[in-house]
Amino acid sequence: MPITVSTKCPSCAGEVEFEQGTNAVHCGFCGSDHLVTGRGRVLSYYVPEKVPVWEALARAREALAGVGIPDAKTRDATLFFVPFYHLIGQALHWEAKEDAERKKSWSTSGVSVTMTSSDTEDGAGFGQSGMGSLLMEGLGGNLLKALKGDGAPNLVRKTFEPRSAYISRSAPALDIPELKVPSLGVRADVLKLALFEKAAVTVRGQVVPVKASLPDYEARGYAPSGSEEAVARTVFGKVRSVIYFPFWLVESGGAPGGPGSFTVVDAVSGEVANPLAPAEILDKLVARDGIRFDVAGLRPLKCPDCGNGLPVKPRDAVFVCGTCRKAWMVSGDGFEGIPCSIAAPQKKGSGEPVYFPFWVVTARLSTPDLTVENKYDLGRLMPGLRVPTEEDKALPLRFFVPALRIGSQLALSRLATNFTRFQPTWEKDIPYSISAKGCHITQDDALSLIPLILFAMAPKDNIHKVRFALEAKVEPSGVELVLIPFYKGRGDYVDSILGQSLQAAAVKD
Ligand SMILES: [Zn+2]
Ligand SMILES: [Zn+2]
Repeated sequence: MPITVSTKCPSCAGEVEFEQGTNAVHCGFCGSDHLVTGRGRVLSYYVPEKVPVWEALARAREALAGVGIPDAKTRDATLFFVPFYHLIGQALHWEAKEDAERKKSWSTSGVSVTMTSSDTEDGAGFGQSGMGSLLMEGLGGNLLKALKGDGAPNLVRKTFEPRSAYISRSAPALDIPELKVPSLGVRADVLKLALFEKAAVTVRGQVVPVKASLPDYEARGYAPSGSEEAVARTVFGKVRSVIYFPFWLVESGGAPGGPGSFTVVDAVSGEVANPLAPAEILDKLVARDGIRFDVAGLRPLKCPDCGNGLPVKPRDAVFVCGTCRKAWMVSGDGFEGIPCSIAAPQKKGSGEPVYFPFWVVTARLSTPDLTVENKYDLGRLMPGLRVPTEEDKALPLRFFVPALRIGSQLALSRLATNFTRFQPTWEKDIPYSISAKGCHITQDDALSLIPLILFAMAPKDNIHKVRFALEAKVEPSGVELVLIPFYKGRGDYVDSILGQSLQAAAVKD
């Protein structure tokens, strides 16, 4: 669930709200549009306290009575803002599943691969079916291990299905088990966050320093959950933040001769997190010299080139100026110009085309044994294409990643795979005016999706090609945004270069 951030409009000081991770906000009071700065960075927020000190004291006394300390002297209470790392992202992977249905087998270099006749088609039309099938001896439970040829010798059959999962995880940004709050849980989803301005927070309470390393937490926070057997997994659309959450620390003395000295009260819900926390908790809360992170800001949403207002689409990562038609990517505190071209329609369609943005990434793939760097190489690697010609050697390998917001991960994968498989070329066009979909997927996300596209294209009946897809190093050498014309059909959009269909329901604003 998206988290709401609340702040003041820089033009009129009215309250504006936006979803965490979005890039633009419109002020309903004065009508001005603002860019939300800080995209891609780790941003800090805080949650204002709701529970007053007297209530915290009363809750602590209640909780202490509940654990057998009826007459606790709750003398003093201090409000602490405890930092939590919060990670959001969309995980996409291919799940390997055992498939008992499939039969027929042959052997290649010591690894036996079993396929049905339809699997050959799956190999070619993988993008269409969204499923590939691979059966091999020696798979054991570990696909990658088996692909490297050192698995157990039992016959296990595998099919692959694309899977996606929304990730939202949090954990304290310091080692503080005494708090007894291992994560923000659903708290983060129901609360409004405020931009972390230190001066505004320190008048409310004490700010606890961030001590835990973010890269360490990210490695765990974005990892697959236990049950997934994930192949070619990537996490995109990452939003990383530090959320300072308020807790009252009530000094109670605890039981006579007992261990507990403090009671921890959640300063938003009033719930007691730990009735008897040891005295060491205080040392951790009052520590100094933590890690600092940035804060989001708002600035006028204007084209850096011509100064005209840009269309506000909060979920877009790239804005195209309607006046000078330059494309701007939200980057750090402002905009970065990016190369953008418009493809001319090649097939006729009815009505005016709608332009869908694609990131076109020129890249080279390599393993110690094999290099794939042009259309010819790809045609030899992936089946189902026409026979590669000499001219294909002059066309550098390009990956096509749809950048518009597509609701179905399967549809996204299919469109990317089919465009990439065919390696289309196009003429540039300079139409007078166009209707274009926003660019939701960032350049970085497009790069992170390449290994998935490669895996999707690999014919699953060929162990060497599957292995190549999983092990190849991807070296991008150029990225360009290309607007490709699509025509609206009955329930879908069909592109005017290859004739690929995309369900209209999958296209989101
Ligand atoms: Zn305003
Ligand atoms: Zn402009």
